Amino acid sequence: MGSTVTATAMTTATVKIARIEFCSKSAYALAEDNYCPFPTSDCWGKIWKINSLPKIRNFLWLCCQKKLAYNALLHKRHIIESNLCPICFDHPETVEHILKDCDYAKEFWSLLNPSSNLNSNLPLVEWIIHNVGNYNRNLDILTPHAVIFPFAYWALWHNRNKIVFEQNLLLPKDNCEAVKAKATEFYHLFGKFKSPSRIERIMVKWDPPTAPFYKLNTDGSAIGSPGRASAGGLLRNHLGQWIWGFSRNLGLVSSIAAEIWALCDGLDMAIKCNISLLSVDMDATEAINLVRHELSLTHPLSSLLCDCRWLMSKFDTVCLEHKYHESNRCVDILARKGATLSYHCNIFEDHLVGYLNSLKLMLGVSATPVMY
Ligand SMILES: [Zn+2]
Repeated sequence: MGSTVTATAMTTATVKIARIEFCSKSAYALAEDNYCPFPTSDCWGKIWKINSLPKIRNFLWLCCQKKLAYNALLHKRHIIESNLCPICFDHPETVEHILKDCDYAKEFWSLLNPSSNLNSNLPLVEWIIHNVGNYNRNLDILTPHAVIFPFAYWALWHNRNKIVFEQNLLLPKDNCEAVKAKATEFYHLFGKFKSPSRIERIMVKWDPPTAPFYKLNTDGSAIGSPGRASAGGLLRNHLGQWIWGFSRNLGLVSSIAAEIWALCDGLDMAIKCNISLLSVDMDATEAINLVRHELSLTHPLSSLLCDCRWLMSKFDTVCLEHKYHESNRCVDILARKGATLSYHCNIFEDHLVGYLNSLKLMLGVSATPVMY
């Protein structure tokens, strides 16, 4: 059985190699000087994932396939008389020449990105793949080279066509500036561009405050924004011991308002407990920024933010920090529970271990022990 599998695998591998190196299509492409050195799936997968305009992705695909109407090909098919490059008239016009090896193209690339290693000695397809994988930023416009390159490639071909059909040649410098402008516009309009993701795993946990500080965790929850919202919070000492927790139903408000309501309630309760040194953790960066920065009185949350700042001024020291949601699960449960409670602030003064576990089950969260 094992030998059968091995034999099958070997046969498949042989067929695969044969399809790349020895099939009639590859042989014909080789004879036509049209051979793609990449295995088809690998090459095209990378081309179609390039972050650029669809027409440019399509153009790069045509380049790799050498399906453009360049002079050397047209001459070979007896469509035109000369196979020479319409720009330099020194060499036959191939895809490599017009986009990479022509003097015009060389000057264009050196102006576009003088500091980057374009590796223009690579074969065409490898050269394209190399450049669309280069995420270094252009020093002039801070746009990644991987974004600029497809636009530049497109511009070179577009410029070649303007010469052939309109007898109009853009100077390399002007062409270069136009490419930078278009690539930068695309980059800022479609800011989803990401370098290859590097997933960095970090451990998050609740950190106790340094004595004599207390720690307040607050959280807001909203289904929609605005939507049915609630707030929750809890206070613990440096040993992680529960002092109190609270939940409040807020009715219909935005998610950011729910976060600030939670902070207001938590600060108010800490003051009532005569706490003067307080560390506050929230998982909403936007809420923290709103509290830290003075806003116009016309801001819809200005009165709530003023209340927060006024309450914070009552402490000897209060530190406001962002912490990941995952380190704040306990307060998340309290916040979500608020939606089922009354509109006033519901305070829980016990440890509530059993209560929280039952809440977790109701909310569909796994019933692991709550750390506090
Ligand atoms: Zn040329």
